[in-house]
Amino acid sequence: MRALRRFTVRAQLPGPLAPLQTLATNLRWTWHAPTRDLFASLDPDAWDASGQDPVRLLGEIGSGRLAELAADDAVAATVAERAAELQSYLDEPRWYQRSRDDDPSLPAAVAYFSMEFGVSEVLPNYSGGLGVLAGDHLKAASDLGVPLIGVGLLYRSGYFRQSLSLDGWQLEHYPAVDPQGLPLQLLSDSDGAPVLVEVAVPGDRTLTARIWLARVGRVPLLLLDTDIEENSAENTGGTDDLRGVTDRLYGGDQNHRIQQEVLIGIGGVRAVRAFCATTGHPAPEVFHTNEGHAGFLGCERIRELCTAAPSGAGLDFDEALAAVRAGTVFTTHTPVPAGIDRFGLDLVRHYLTGRLLPGLPVDRLLALGAEDDPETFNMAHMGLRLAQRANGVSRLHGRVSREMFGGLWQGFDRDEVPIGSVTNGVHGPTWESREVGELIGDPGADAQPSDAELWALRNTLRSRLVDEVRRRVRAAWLERGASEPELGWTDHVFDRDVLTVGFARRVPTYKRLTLMLRDPERLRGLLLDPHRPVQLIVAGKSHPADDGGKALIQQIVRFADDAGVRHRIVFLPDYDMSMARYLYWGCDVWLNNPLRPLEACGTSGMKSALNGGLNLSIRDGWWDELYDGRNGWAIPTADGLEDPTRRDDLEANALYELIATQVGPAFYDRVDGVPHRWVEMVRHTLSTLRPTVQATRMVGEYVHDWYAPAARAAADAVADDFAAARDIAQYRARLNKSWNHVWITGVDVTGLPDTPVVGSPMTVRAGVDLAGLNPSDVVVEAVVGRVDDTDELADPVTVAMEHRGEDSWEVAVPLPHAGLTGYTVRVLPHHPHLASSVELGRIVLAG
Ligand SMILES: *Cc1c(COP(=O)(O)O)cnc(C)c1O
Repeated sequence: MRALRRFTVRAQLPGPLAPLQTLATNLRWTWHAPTRDLFASLDPDAWDASGQDPVRLLGEIGSGRLAELAADDAVAATVAERAAELQSYLDEPRWYQRSRDDDPSLPAAVAYFSMEFGVSEVLPNYSGGLGVLAGDHLKAASDLGVPLIGVGLLYRSGYFRQSLSLDGWQLEHYPAVDPQGLPLQLLSDSDGAPVLVEVAVPGDRTLTARIWLARVGRVPLLLLDTDIEENSAENTGGTDDLRGVTDRLYGGDQNHRIQQEVLIGIGGVRAVRAFCATTGHPAPEVFHTNEGHAGFLGCERIRELCTAAPSGAGLDFDEALAAVRAGTVFTTHTPVPAGIDRFGLDLVRHYLTGRLLPGLPVDRLLALGAEDDPETFNMAHMGLRLAQRANGVSRLHGRVSREMFGGLWQGFDRDEVPIGSVTNGVHGPTWESREVGELIGDPGADAQPSDAELWALRNTLRSRLVDEVRRRVRAAWLERGASEPELGWTDHVFDRDVLTVGFARRVPTYKRLTLMLRDPERLRGLLLDPHRPVQLIVAGKSHPADDGGKALIQQIVRFADDAGVRHRIVFLPDYDMSMARYLYWGCDVWLNNPLRPLEACGTSGMKSALNGGLNLSIRDGWWDELYDGRNGWAIPTADGLEDPTRRDDLEANALYELIATQVGPAFYDRVDGVPHRWVEMVRHTLSTLRPTVQATRMVGEYVHDWYAPAARAAADAVADDFAAARDIAQYRARLNKSWNHVWITGVDVTGLPDTPVVGSPMTVRAGVDLAGLNPSDVVVEAVVGRVDDTDELADPVTVAMEHRGEDSWEVAVPLPHAGLTGYTVRVLPHHPHLASSVELGRIVLAG
């Protein structure tokens, strides 16, 4: 008989075991091995059967076994010890608290919004890199004591699970997730009633969400869930199912998608307010949006400030905008135009009603997402307009983003576009195998294991991966319809001593899943090489709507199904965190061959490096800045080559060459069984990359370079009844009126000797008509640099000019370069509450 519905009942734990409930529901166990050991020891078989999920485990251990455990003093003592350890982890001052003693301007709290969070496979609320990064951000924040509040949605079926049909086509299924069976707690008020947030949606309807609270160490993560009774009533007469708004991640059409984004942005701010009100948590001073999906949060905060006193501040739109911008940080994650979230303008207008955001002029809201196409609303552009500070996720991606979004700062050189970068990091305690820590200690520790010890470590990790590969290949074939007796061969898939290369990632075109198949015979040759064989693991999901991606997967699967190579190449279905861990531990080489520069950062290679894996990658994302010639290999790129087919040919060829002539020999050249050259690279990787790629390094940078300045700017904006916000709003209004009439009436240069040399002083004078603005409203700058035939200034030196009365400015500039030199003059806005003069994207150039 099939059950009609299902739900989870939590176990009643006998007294000495009661702390297990807290240990199971705080996700700290996901990165705390001693706590996992404790759970495993309660019942090793049940632990594995539960998928190493403490909440499920506690539900599955019988009451007899529980009583037995409770009577065991050693077990009770370990439980008490782990519980005490967790409590002190949660309570004691950490890095952030000490930093805040020195710098009280660090914010009391930061809200971090993300469409997905990959904290653990037991909370399947992510699709790939973006979500796992967000999970790592929360965990590192917790370790550092950064007072983050995470905000996202709880998806009823998470992202899809992938399996394969017999002929290698991706199949998707969506297991229903019961929140009661997850490490979540419903946020409720002092009377025990669930806290609900509401957002108005078109058709005079209301979308209601409850709030699940996940505890990620010290960090609360709020997840909004619309699958509740209140939304059923709203269904009658409606065209779409409001209960289903949070049904799945990245499913559905544009309408479904905007409902999710309205919910996470606007409902998300309301959830944060409710959370702070019910728990006494300090209110966030900084709002960080991880990618553009949650960008409507800025609109809601503008609404809050525009609301009349006493609940709001009664600001006008521009004043509120200034205050909101000051405290907002926006991180962009993709240089792929198709990856940018965009909606038809009409759809956005349909949602941003006066019921949703009372009192806000809809045209102003729509203008926040304006882009080249007048009928399109661009979430990334809104992100940039609503945040005073913005960044990309590697140095190269910062540069690419300045180019990509340069249109918002027209007239400025690309280098001046105010988008910085913070290179992503990964959470060491989550992604590093236990053996690495045991052998070497903390990142940065000075342990010097011998070559033989390091090699033994790599062999152990590879061997564990081989077991996992065999288990998964067998399971995958059973799912594809094979029968047990046919699968004897799967016991011999892979070899514990063969050079193991991993390639696992989502399957958008730019990641080029099938580049390795460019010349199938060549790949066969590498796999089957009698002296230096290679074995290859491939994994990755294609977006359900992307048949092109599924066709790529099918190509790989068909190649790997061939009985001649299937012992050396496997495609493992259902790439997720639980599989990824084994790959990052065990692969000798982590392969990445994106179309440069479309990989914003990439983090899987960092996780491999934590375990001594060597990267073999195109110089894109993080690898562009951290490849040093001794920690892996750079696949040469044919950037700029117009013909994509030829580019793929060249780059695939370079990849085969590298494996055959560099990677293979380094791995197989042995003295006394140890490949010393290889081990030297492993050692170098562990001592240099392991400390650098940590998520704590990344979060530390966000704290100092982004959250702290944003918190100061936000505090300035609200001080003295929003004096600064009002001031800058008035200032922007004055600029709006005058800017188009500002012009540089003349420029001349004096003081140059007949034969100028580097360092000769040149006096630049300019006349400027300020069209009613005050001299203090602007900065007038002389720009001097090299020029070529196009007169484009290169390596320019920019010097602020001094106001000499009336409409005259002047400055002496020592000539900065030898050779052909040019100069110009420009006028930019200037105001103490701008992060920079570039910020408003306004410029007047001479000539
Ligand atoms: C780290 C990780 C990713 C991201 O890897 P990229 O290198 O950015 O493609 C994707 N999925 C899982 C499960 C991960 O752990």
